[in-house]
Amino acid sequence: MNQGALIINGQAVAGASRMGVIDPSTGEEFASCSKASASDLEAAVAAAKAAFASWSTTPFAERSRLLNEVADEIARRQTELATLLTREQGKVLAESTAEVEASVAFIRHLAGIELHREVIEDSATRRIEQHFRPLGVVAAIVPWNFPLLMACFKVAAALGTGNTVVLKPSPSTPLCALALGAIGMRILPPGVLNVITDQNDLGPLLTAHPDVAKIAFTGSTGTGRKVMASAAASIKRITLELGGNDAAIVLDDADPVALAPALFGTAFFNSGQVCIAIKRIYAHKKIYEPLIAELARLANEAVVGPGLEPGTTHGPVQNRMQFDKVRRIIADARSAGQVAAGGEAADGGGYFIRPTIVRDARAGMSLVEDEQFGPVLPVIPFADVGDAVRQVNASRYGLGGSVWGADTARAIEVASAIESGTVWVNKHLDFGPDIPFGGAKESGLGLQFSAAGLQEFTQKQVLNIAKS
Ligand code: NAD
Repeated sequence: MNQGALIINGQAVAGASRMGVIDPSTGEEFASCSKASASDLEAAVAAAKAAFASWSTTPFAERSRLLNEVADEIARRQTELATLLTREQGKVLAESTAEVEASVAFIRHLAGIELHREVIEDSATRRIEQHFRPLGVVAAIVPWNFPLLMACFKVAAALGTGNTVVLKPSPSTPLCALALGAIGMRILPPGVLNVITDQNDLGPLLTAHPDVAKIAFTGSTGTGRKVMASAAASIKRITLELGGNDAAIVLDDADPVALAPALFGTAFFNSGQVCIAIKRIYAHKKIYEPLIAELARLANEAVVGPGLEPGTTHGPVQNRMQFDKVRRIIADARSAGQVAAGGEAADGGGYFIRPTIVRDARAGMSLVEDEQFGPVLPVIPFADVGDAVRQVNASRYGLGGSVWGADTARAIEVASAIESGTVWVNKHLDFGPDIPFGGAKESGLGLQFSAAGLQEFTQKQVLNIAKS
């Protein structure tokens, strides 16, 4: 299989060289695609810059119509795209299909929000309006866990507000982004959406480029820090959606048997490779043992295997580096006698790891302090909820979090004390294009989704007009 040209200025471009794409369920190359060079990057930014004048003045209704056509085409090709997504990312086909559906829904919703000017004052002496002007070229940089959805919502937000885009996927999941670019090429004017690939070498050039006005970045906190530093030179606008270490606090009045499937499902969705997955559970000692037993039962029932194989509930870890990292974490927990279920990892071939429950976890363990980003979940007992909240808030991350309990009012009170961008009560991982989403502390800067997220792709301009 040999697919995946770069998309630059409305053309499929072969690029300077090719790179292999690994199927995480075999550990072997299953496809290849074009790899961009620095001069391909220059051409992509130049094309986006040239297209900006006309795209930014295209009426909103027309931009929205074209984006909806892109969504229509993604929907038409659902099966093909979902299969491609599973091949390159590893997730089970049902999750890939849901990701394609979500991509369509996010594009349609975001392309339907027009940022109207706001009249701040209209008096006898003056009229003051606030307008939302497009910024220019947006660099959209995405990670490997939701390669299609994240590309789609960044592109929809940027293009809908009148900007043009250079999209750069992760080196290990380039194919869905290139497929999106190829769809866009047939529908959008040349240069409006450009897609380039790299091997982790072009990100710094893109974020430092003087003709890039804004960086819409999703990825790890470490890379986010570099992006922020790089943006400083020309005071670029940035939205950073970074790492998370979401905690779920399970209160003493919670029913552990009833809640366990939701906790387990949210922790191990996409094999735990979700920024807002539950990454640590703080469980009151009263319900601790029954909760561990239920989580262990669910972990033992999981069917781990290739995402395209019917019956698989959990696919492989996406790449070798992450696979090795999670295996090391599990080996440490095993040697401390803390593995309640799971822990087995494949020896050769695919990057398979069974969902793993680590009991008697505590502050100071790297599994509790750092982002594991894989199928291993620490469960920490607590006796005092104030102490649990303190431990949760001691993290440098602040993306999401949740509180679970029968007394909703009490759960809301505890939730309000958690220092994160989103806190759920009796659920986790519920998000959508109409809900503002962003991280606190080192989990990010700025918002995505809803009108508030779209405003970040614009320059607010005040027009202050004298009246005679
Ligand atoms: P990563 O930071 O390694 O890479 C993300 C992207 O940045 C990739 O496209 C990569 O090629 C690019 N990149 C690498 N070095 C760069 C540089 N110096 N300058 C610019 N770009 C550069 O992240 P990853 O391992 O692909 O993704 C996993 C991480 O993403 C996790 O930490 C996860 O929590 C986070 N994430 C956050 C959110 C969110 O919305 N907050 C969503 C999904 C994933």
